[in-house]
Amino acid sequence: MINFEYTKASSTKTAIDASLKNNNAKFIAGGTNLVDLMKKGITAPQRLIDITALPLKNINSDAKGITIGALVANSAAAENETVKTKYPLLAMALNAGASAQLRNMATVGGNIMQRTRCSYFYDITMPCNKRNPGTGCGAAEGYNRMHAVFGASDKCIAVHPSDMCVALAALNATVNISSSKGDKKILFTDFHRLPGDTPELDNNLQAGELITAIHIPANNFNKAYYLKIRDRLSYAFALVSVAVALEVKNGIIKDVSLAMGGVAHKPWRLTAVEKFLIGKTASQQVFKDAAAMAMDGATTYEHNTYKIKLGKAAVLEALTKAVV
Ligand code: SF4
Repeated sequence: MINFEYTKASSTKTAIDASLKNNNAKFIAGGTNLVDLMKKGITAPQRLIDITALPLKNINSDAKGITIGALVANSAAAENETVKTKYPLLAMALNAGASAQLRNMATVGGNIMQRTRCSYFYDITMPCNKRNPGTGCGAAEGYNRMHAVFGASDKCIAVHPSDMCVALAALNATVNISSSKGDKKILFTDFHRLPGDTPELDNNLQAGELITAIHIPANNFNKAYYLKIRDRLSYAFALVSVAVALEVKNGIIKDVSLAMGGVAHKPWRLTAVEKFLIGKTASQQVFKDAAAMAMDGATTYEHNTYKIKLGKAAVLEALTKAVV
C-alpha cells in the first residue's frame, strides 16, 4: 500500500501554500482521472490537496465573454443557458465527453489537466517516456492506432484525450491561474505542450500554480459544430474530432476557428485552413478544398494512417454540419 497525506483546503491561498510545502503534491477535485492513475500505480503523490471547498464553482458572463470556474462540473457547464446559447460549441464538446456519470463528477479544471489515454502509459509493465522518462516509447513500435499524427516526437506520440479542450482552443479561451506570485492568464492554445524531449510534461502549469477558471471571449460566431469520431457512440475517446466555429454573413465566411482532437499531444488548431476559408463562400466546394488541406504536414505511424483520410472527412463533415 502506498500512503499519502490528505488535506482539504479552505481557500485558494491555503491550497497553493499546501502544494508548495511538498513538490510531490497534487490538487484533487472530481478525481475522475487522478484516482485511476493512483490506483494503477502510474502516479503516487505524497500529498493530495482537496480543493472542492474553494469558491471556484461560478459561471459569470457579460458583454466581454464568459468565465467558468475551475470547479464547475462538466455537466453543469454543458447545461448552462449562456453556454448553450452563446457558446454552443463548448456545450457540444462537453456532451461528447466520457459518460453522464463522469460529466457530473469531473470538473472543468480537471478536464484540462487529464492525462493521455495511451494504453502503454497505463500499463506499468511497458516502457513509457511520459510515465518514466528515459524508458522508451512503447507505442512508437507498438500498436499506435489511437496516436498522434501532428507534433509528435521520437520520445512520445500520445494524444490529448479531452473534447472540451478542443472546443476551448477553437474559442480562443484563456486559462486563469493563481499562484503565490499572483494571478495570470495563459492562452488556451499555449497551455498544453507538444512532447518534444520532455513528454512527462503535459502542459505549462508550474509548481504551485492552480487553475481557477477558464475565460472565453465574446465572439461573433453564428455557426458551430463539434464532430467526434470514435469506436462507439458513448464513453470512448476520439479517434479524430473537429471543433468548428464560423461567422457567416450573406453566405461569406467572415471568421472561422477550426481545431482538431485525437491528432496531437494538444488540441490542434488548423490555422492554414482557417486562413484559406476566411473571405470565401460557405459552399460545399470550398469546404472540400479546405478539408483536402486539413491534414497537410501529418506524419503517420504503422497503425494510424487511416487518420489522414478520416481527418479530412471529419473536417468536411464538421464544416458542412455547422452551416446547415
Ligand atoms: Fe508513453 Fe507517450 Fe509513448 Fe504512450 S506515446 S508509450 S504516453 S511515451
